[in-house]
Amino acid sequence: MKSALRGIDKIFTAPIVPELSGARVRRIIGTPYLRRLDPFLTFDHYCVRLPSGFTDHPHRGFETVTYNLKGKIFHEDFKGRKGIIGPGDCQWMTAGKGIVHAEMPGSWDEDSEGLQLWINLPIKEKLCEPQYQEVPKDTIPRTTKDNTTVKVIAGESLGVKGPIFHRTPTYFIDVEMEKEGKLEQCIPKNWNGLCYVYEGVAYFGANQEKAQENQAVVLKNEDNDTLLIKTKGEKAKFVIVAGQLLNEPIIRYGPFVLGSEEQLLKSFEDYEKGINGFEGSKQFVSKIREMAFKGSK
Ligand code: FE
Repeated sequence: MKSALRGIDKIFTAPIVPELSGARVRRIIGTPYLRRLDPFLTFDHYCVRLPSGFTDHPHRGFETVTYNLKGKIFHEDFKGRKGIIGPGDCQWMTAGKGIVHAEMPGSWDEDSEGLQLWINLPIKEKLCEPQYQEVPKDTIPRTTKDNTTVKVIAGESLGVKGPIFHRTPTYFIDVEMEKEGKLEQCIPKNWNGLCYVYEGVAYFGANQEKAQENQAVVLKNEDNDTLLIKTKGEKAKFVIVAGQLLNEPIIRYGPFVLGSEEQLLKSFEDYEKGINGFEGSKQFVSKIREMAFKGSK
């Protein structure tokens, strides 16, 4: 009998990578285990507390999705936009032509923990107007079936649709499974996808392969559109991330992700001169970066 279930390409434990900021980061996408997964550029599981943090830095040409699990993340950008991403909240930030900002944890005593995904933008959208889509915890659409609760930030699961407007078609779904849970999740044909387990143990794919805390489960890219996930004697919490391939060139230097060398060089120039979307970037010093210098115990 021909299986209609998606298979698993590989399962690996996301390695801890050194971060200049002093944060402890497990990198799911962006190491030799999984260099890239079109349309995704980087995917991190962060644990960070003061005085560490992500002080003022630019972005251009892609989107960042911050799904915070524990504690708080304060953010502030060069246009005066600021806020707090609390536990269970999601911030979907389209950097487009340029955002300069800081992201800082709120506590000296406890880690802020969460997931940050970088999604590439199609070349024709790279210089779009920046946009924030904030999805507070209580507004994330959810439903429960077969001992399984899905929270749909983007895409669709169990008939529930996520609120995010996406330029690059993406699914971002948080799943909480009790013991003996089951989910048959549709992943559109030939999209890339992965699951990342941040708590517990679950079984994935056509062959029901086991994955546990801090492990990534990379899906085979095939035209079978059903991903089967189950739990047995233990509970599990994980995210499902999937996206339509862009199949475009990626020219990247740190936080600038463009489609050609020329666009990349132009981006450095725009940032240096504070033009074409980076107006005010040179004068910007975030207030929240000072959180790391004062209020220490
Ligand atoms: Fe950032």
